[in-house]
Amino acid sequence: MPVIFSHPASLEHDTGYGHPERPDRIRAIEQRLGARDWLGWERREAPSADPEQLLAVHPQEHVDRVRELSERGGAFDLDTPLSPGSYEAALRAAGGACALAEALVSGGERVGFSALRPPGHHCERAQAMGFCLFANVSIAARHALDSLGAERVLVLDWDVHHGNGTNAIFHDSREVLFASIHQYPFYPGTGPLEDVGSGDGAGFSLNLPVPAGAGEDVFCALVEHVVLPAARQFEPDLLLLSAGYDAHRDDPVGGCSLETGSFAEMTRQVLSLGVPVGAVLEGGYDLAALAEGVETTMETLAAGGEPGSHPPEAVSERAREVLGNYWEL
Ligand SMILES: [Zn+2]
Repeated sequence: MPVIFSHPASLEHDTGYGHPERPDRIRAIEQRLGARDWLGWERREAPSADPEQLLAVHPQEHVDRVRELSERGGAFDLDTPLSPGSYEAALRAAGGACALAEALVSGGERVGFSALRPPGHHCERAQAMGFCLFANVSIAARHALDSLGAERVLVLDWDVHHGNGTNAIFHDSREVLFASIHQYPFYPGTGPLEDVGSGDGAGFSLNLPVPAGAGEDVFCALVEHVVLPAARQFEPDLLLLSAGYDAHRDDPVGGCSLETGSFAEMTRQVLSLGVPVGAVLEGGYDLAALAEGVETTMETLAAGGEPGSHPPEAVSERAREVLGNYWEL
C-alpha cells in the first residue's frame, strides 16, 4: 500500500499574514484527500529528522540558527520568517522525507508522498532562503546513500523555481543526478542550462530552464528527451521528486501554464523508469491547484499507466546539445 507522511507540526510554522507559503496549503491538501479517504493510502506520522540526518547535509551552526530564530521569531530574509513552531515543523518536514526514503529503499514500498512544510529545495548547506529552512530532499537523498544502501539517487525537481539548494549540495557529486525544470530567468536566478555540475559531478546537474508561459508540451518533452534517457543510463536506486505545484497556470507566484493533468503525465513518465518514486512537497500557492496537483500525483503514482509521446521542443533540443556531451540523449 502506498504511504503518505504528514504531521500536525506543519500547521504551526507561522509565516505571517499574506505569506504565500502558509498553513492553509496543508489544510487544503488534507481536506481534499480526507474527503476521499486519502485514496486508500496508509497514513504515517512523519518523525523528526535526527541530528545525524541533518548534519550529513547542514553544519551544526545552521541547525542551531534555525532553532534560535524559531524560538525568538526571527527571519533569515524577508521571504523566510520563523515562528516558535517553525523548528519542529522543519524537523518533521526533513524527517518525513527521510522516512519516505526508508519506506522505499528498505521498506518494500514502490511509491509514496511526504506532504509537509516548510519546503526545502532552496535551502543550501549553510543558508536558509526562499521559504526553506532545511534541505529536505537533499537530507533524504543523503540518508538513502549513507544509511540505506542506495548507490545512486535521481532527484527530479518540477517546482517552477530552480532547486538551487539541492543543486549546490550535490554540485560536485556523481551519487545524485539532479534534474530541474524551472522558469528562467526567475527566482532565485540560478540554474542556467550551462550549469552542468562541477568536478566529479560534471554532467550530473541537468538544469532545464524554460521561458515564462511554458506548458505541458515543454515540460514533458524535457522529461522524455533529456531526463529519462539520462536517468536510464544513471540507473538510480531511488527517485525523489521535488514536487512543487507552482508551475500550474493558476499559481499566483509562478508564470508557467501546466494543468493539473500535466502532473499526472509527468508522474507516468517517471514511473516508466521502474524505480521507487517518492514525492516530497515543495511549493504551490494556489490552494485548489495545489490540492488537486497532490491528489493527481498520488492517484497516478498508485495507478501507473503509459505516458504519451511528446515531440521535441526547441528547449529540449537545445538541452540535448549541451547535455549530450555527458549522456546519450
Ligand atoms: Zn517554487
